[in-house]
Amino acid sequence: MASLFEQDITKLKGVGEKRAALYRKLGAPTVGDLLRMYPRTYEDWSCQVPIQEALPGEISIIKAMVLKKPTEQRIRGGMLLYKTTVTDGETDLSLTFFNNKYIPSLLKEGGTYLFRGKVTGSLLRKEMVAPEFTAEEKSLAIVPVYPATQGLTSRMISSAMQNALEMLPKTFRDPLPSELRERHCLCHLGFALEHIHFPGSEEELETARRRLIFEEFLVLQLGLLRMKSRRKGRNLHPLNRGFPEGFLKLLPFELTGAQKRAISEAIADMSGASPMNRLVQGDVGSGKTAVAAALCWSVAQSGMQAAMMAPTEILASQHYASLSSLLGPAGIGVALLTGSTKPSEKKALYHSLAQGEIQLVIGTHALLSEGVEFQNLSLVITDEQHRFGVEQRSALAQKGVSPHLLVMSATPIPRTLALMLYGDLDISVLDELPPGRQKIDTYLIDSKKRRRAFAFVQRHLDEGRQGYLICPLIEEDESGMSSVTEYGKLVAQAFPQVPVGLLHGKMKPKEKDRIMKEFASGQLRLLVSTTVVEVGVDVPNAVIMLIENAERYGLSQLHQLRGRIGRGTHKSTCILVTDAKNEETLKRLKLFRDTSDGFQIADADLKLRGPGDFFGSRQHGLPQLKIADMTNDLEVLRQAQQCAKELVENGQLEQEECRGLRAEIRRLFSKTGNGETLVL
Ligand code: ADP
Ligand code: MG
Repeated sequence: MASLFEQDITKLKGVGEKRAALYRKLGAPTVGDLLRMYPRTYEDWSCQVPIQEALPGEISIIKAMVLKKPTEQRIRGGMLLYKTTVTDGETDLSLTFFNNKYIPSLLKEGGTYLFRGKVTGSLLRKEMVAPEFTAEEKSLAIVPVYPATQGLTSRMISSAMQNALEMLPKTFRDPLPSELRERHCLCHLGFALEHIHFPGSEEELETARRRLIFEEFLVLQLGLLRMKSRRKGRNLHPLNRGFPEGFLKLLPFELTGAQKRAISEAIADMSGASPMNRLVQGDVGSGKTAVAAALCWSVAQSGMQAAMMAPTEILASQHYASLSSLLGPAGIGVALLTGSTKPSEKKALYHSLAQGEIQLVIGTHALLSEGVEFQNLSLVITDEQHRFGVEQRSALAQKGVSPHLLVMSATPIPRTLALMLYGDLDISVLDELPPGRQKIDTYLIDSKKRRRAFAFVQRHLDEGRQGYLICPLIEEDESGMSSVTEYGKLVAQAFPQVPVGLLHGKMKPKEKDRIMKEFASGQLRLLVSTTVVEVGVDVPNAVIMLIENAERYGLSQLHQLRGRIGRGTHKSTCILVTDAKNEETLKRLKLFRDTSDGFQIADADLKLRGPGDFFGSRQHGLPQLKIADMTNDLEVLRQAQQCAKELVENGQLEQEECRGLRAEIRRLFSKTGNGETLVL
């Protein structure tokens, strides 16, 4: 099997250079890749119905004999039309095809075929337009459907797949050792490949699927574990100071137990034999910044440098403000570097960084710029990690020599998923909120009650508080969804005496920053915004979070938004506005209304919406999964994770029997989702 990955796709019967280009586009440059291109779905061709009984408007499968050779007809616009009539013995059916000059040679007079399409026409004259068809003797009960592309139909791929399967050696070594397969009740790869493409029955398909999913998870998991162990070089920046007691004196509050635990774990890592690779996962407001600050303090006390990267300028500035006022008095040099740092300042900053005069630099992607050099970078922190890919994380680390790595994520994700996404990291969880947090009240209303909600907002503004009003889109669209600018006008009318700011993703970073600062300083009382405020922004005086078209958001996203309030001493309220009638949607929103625990919400979100949020739009830098699905295949994921752990711990992975498996890991990780190569 492995060698088929060295066979160019042109080695396949009927695949010339032109078609090969299409296969490459689909991600199958070799025969091996083609075999690993699994059907998107399957069609059931086993339920054939008599023409007379085909339901109008529904796809049916008809078995019928061709009565006469198809005729060709040229119509306006140069289009070619082919017509013929078929019969199932009881009823005749006229067929029409467009622009397919092969029709006359494909449909032979007297031959029996299966046709798939919609039967239309009158009681007396039934017809079908452009049906799919296959000769009866070649027909399958379950037909695979592949992701087709212009010039390459699913059927063409399917027949190429037949040929590719024939190129599989009669016997070949399965990358999964037989003992492992037996233990986990997995079929041989040969059986799996054959039956994932051409299953004879549901059972065969299920057997094949389970094996391939297991393998995919296992390989992914093993790759991540390997990355982790490879990074376990020598610790070049050991800390020898123990828990940072001195730091506690700088803090205006007591650390929570969870914060202390996370700090201790990180300090232990950094004092250990190899560099730290740790994820701190904590719900919004759990106080991750203080954990980071404690570690930066420790590093600075040991005469080393730290860098902290945030995904937006707003966040970076905010971290800078709080960390410089916290650590500055202790004599630690803290600096900010973003896209809007002036060139002259930048130059001076680069210089002081290289000289080691600055111990902590906080910034955006600008930190990855070429000119940024450190004297002794020992700790790299990335905040809100899900916004960064694996490569960016390591790009910042490249600025030092095996620095310690701390990743902070505010997306509470279920543990199995965390292991998958961050399989290369150790995990600390901040499962405790600082004391004195107000419980946030959440209400679900429809837009008819908006007026009352606005009155409620006004009352809080009168008391000196501030609020966020969130709406989903930037421009008005056909669906009538609120847009920031339109909605801004509505808000300005409803709150004529109130300074209102407008914030959206299409604004320049500088402008965004200015608005955000004015809001934080209290000049602006209301902020109309898209979800750009979602991440990390901290304005304790803001107590209202009103979200329009709440049905548009995932629960985790809503949770992030809600986390923007309830940060001060005042009672806070979250109002979800929706006119959605869909029962599922309302159920989801009600669950959110009644739950405050981020982990519980993330779990529910995952079950209800699938892992797209975690694995789709967000760049995670992990290889694409071809068949496995994080939500539906959680049980197999768990088994594969356990199996991966065992293979690594008992050393089996490094043995001869796992040679094929190791090759699969290399292959999978040579292509990441971002098209870049991960160094394993
Ligand atoms: P997040 O985990 O969402 O990044 P932050 O680090 O921004 O949370 O902290 C949220 C707020 O809680 C900040 O204003 C911070 O000063 C405060 N805070 C953090 N830890 C504690 C604590 N142990 N006791 C009281 N307040 C705390
Ligand atoms: Mg934060």
